[in-house]
Amino acid sequence: MSEAVLRLAGLEKRYNPGRPNEVKVLEGADLSVAPGEVVALVAPSGAGKSTLLHIAGLLDTPDGGTVEIAGHDMTGAGDRARTATRRGAVGFVYQFHHLLPEFSAAENVILPQLAHGVSAGAAADRAAALLASVGMTARAGHRPAELSGGEQQRVAFCRAVANGPQLLLADEPTGNLDPTTSDTVFDALMGLVRETGMAALIATHNPALAARMDRIVRLEGGRLVAG
Ligand code: ADP
Repeated sequence: MSEAVLRLAGLEKRYNPGRPNEVKVLEGADLSVAPGEVVALVAPSGAGKSTLLHIAGLLDTPDGGTVEIAGHDMTGAGDRARTATRRGAVGFVYQFHHLLPEFSAAENVILPQLAHGVSAGAAADRAAALLASVGMTARAGHRPAELSGGEQQRVAFCRAVANGPQLLLADEPTGNLDPTTSDTVFDALMGLVRETGMAALIATHNPALAARMDRIVRLEGGRLVAG
């Protein structure tokens, strides 16, 4: 059996603990995602998808349970180790894209590679290939403010996978794309997953998209159940 890229066990998370406005979000959530597997995370708004993705991506810590990424148990790891694992092994596509406004689409995909030690030429080639795979070649020189929300989302996807992460986490990655563009981005994502053996956990409200993934898990009552 191949080692899971992401393993979450017994995750607990509550906000405002012990206060009248306490919210129990995760109550024993378990999930394993294998290399090359794309898992859809489906739940109503407010159920805790973003919370779960942030914990899985080491942007937040659970109150209980364990998070293992690429075989490394991150429970109790210090900030430095968490940051190193996040930068080295995890790609994140957020609902809001957080692209760097003063740089072009291509530069937004090139910069994280340079920070990772990739040469300028190789980084530019990879950025061009990734942007082409999501139909963004003609917009590669545009800054984020000159791009539509859907175009920014496509750039954000290219940036997230630029360094070949073992784990891709995405929060509604095709939420503001029209159906045709959504299919293009999804096809590019599936192609990359199959090619690289990356594992992906993708929150979506779109049932048709969820149905195209390898497996669906639902977040219900703070736990993950097969969909
Ligand atoms: P989803 O992504 O499924 O919409 P979230 O993970 O964003 O859900 O939120 C889960 C629940 O936790 C919601 O009820 C939300 O209001 C609450 N919540 C999220 N973040 C905080 C916070 N920082 N403080 C208090 N409550 C929060």
